[in-house]
Amino acid sequence: MIDLEYDAIVVGAGPAGSIAARILAENDIKTLVVEKKQEIGTPKRCAEGINIDGLEKVGLKPDPVWARREIKGAVLYSPHGKSLEMFLDKKRGYVIERKIFEKYLARDAIRAGARYMVKTLATEVIKEDGKISGINAVHMGKKLRIKSKLIIAADGVDSKIAKSAGLNTKNPLTDYHSGFQYEMVGLNLKNTDLLHIYFGNEIAPKGYVWIFPKDDDTANVGIGILGRLSDKGNKAKDYLDRFIENHPQIFKNASAIEINAGGIPVGSSIDPLVMDGLMVVGDAAHQVNPIHGGGMALAMNAAKISAEVGVKAIKEGDLSKKRLYEYEKIWRETEGVKMQKLLKLRSFLEKLKDKDFESLADILTEEDIIKLTKGKYRFLLKLFMKKAPKMLPLARKFLT
Ligand SMILES: Cc1cc2nc3c(=O)[nH]c(=O)nc-3n(C[C@H](O)[C@H](O)[C@H](O)COP(=O)(O)OP(=O)(O)OC[C@H]3O[C@@H](n4cnc5c(N)ncnc54)[C@H](O)[C@@H]3O)c2cc1C
Repeated sequence: MIDLEYDAIVVGAGPAGSIAARILAENDIKTLVVEKKQEIGTPKRCAEGINIDGLEKVGLKPDPVWARREIKGAVLYSPHGKSLEMFLDKKRGYVIERKIFEKYLARDAIRAGARYMVKTLATEVIKEDGKISGINAVHMGKKLRIKSKLIIAADGVDSKIAKSAGLNTKNPLTDYHSGFQYEMVGLNLKNTDLLHIYFGNEIAPKGYVWIFPKDDDTANVGIGILGRLSDKGNKAKDYLDRFIENHPQIFKNASAIEINAGGIPVGSSIDPLVMDGLMVVGDAAHQVNPIHGGGMALAMNAAKISAEVGVKAIKEGDLSKKRLYEYEKIWRETEGVKMQKLLKLRSFLEKLKDKDFESLADILTEEDIIKLTKGKYRFLLKLFMKKAPKMLPLARKFLT
């Protein structure tokens, strides 16, 4: 057994973990990051889309090293192929090269003073007299006992650390999407500076298919569907393969160079997010956009907030749940409010039939869609009253 001691341990070197580590280290907190994989960023489990706000909030500027394609907006396709283009206004988005991005974030944290240990699996928290005092870990067959004042659990969707500390991080099947994706080359795609998103219950029940271009002929082509459906023998992969087969004009000459799969916790947040000596961030805390399943920006923002609170708590010598709750409060009052609205909107969208999607494609404008992505949906009631009265009862049930 090897004994180590740090002020803060971050479990997981994903986007959340490395942002938290950088901020802790920048503030002279002796920080260790443990990452179970032997290579940070690999394999990726991501379509790699992020908007500029998500980067800027945590002090990042797009770097050509990882910002692979600038994106100007998206095209949404109805089940029968009607399309609606929406542009990001003056803002930009990016499809990034996540394997490089994650290493870049780790590099920044290390340069700020954090220590990283890859191929190091955190197995559980250590509790002494009922109080969390560190973690047990295994590094290449060697057992480690690492003491620390604060633990930030940034260990992703399958988080074990928060669970071992006693928090409920279970993913209910109603709030869990199955994601499956190919990175493909050889596509024949128009508008490669737009994301392409396809809806419909035959295409992707209670979810969507995406094509996120990385190049003129290269893209992440994926699907997210409600996990419950995938369990009934209709696997996400089967739907995606069918979609590809049904679009030979795009995929005739394309081949996959990579397969990515993973779960997406779309329930908006676990409750609580903190306990004495421990904070949970990112996918581990289910801080993912309930509508589109994007989680990098939210994870990094939560990590920033938690690390800033962690710095103050360590310097004050108060790692109590009450002190760390500042992180949870800020989260719930900012991102959390929007997430709750998007959760409601998701419940509504999940009830739509294909004919409803067609009606939406007829009546929604670009501005309407932008409003919806921000969780502003009240206008829908008025709109349905005027233009799609058949959808009113459903909207009243889920959106009021
Ligand atoms: C198919 C798919 C497509 C997606 N597309 C997008 C997208 O386009 N845009 C977007 O913003 N989001 C997307 N997401 C979601 C996004 O990938 C996550 O929200 C994001 O990775 C969350 O970051 P994180 O740091 O919280 O967790 P992760 O990135 O999962 O990082 C957790 C890290 O912890 C490590 N770890 C886990 N357990 C332990 C342990 N016990 N000990 C040590 N290390 C451990 C893991 O190896 C991992 O490196 C997608 C997800 C999927 C599955």
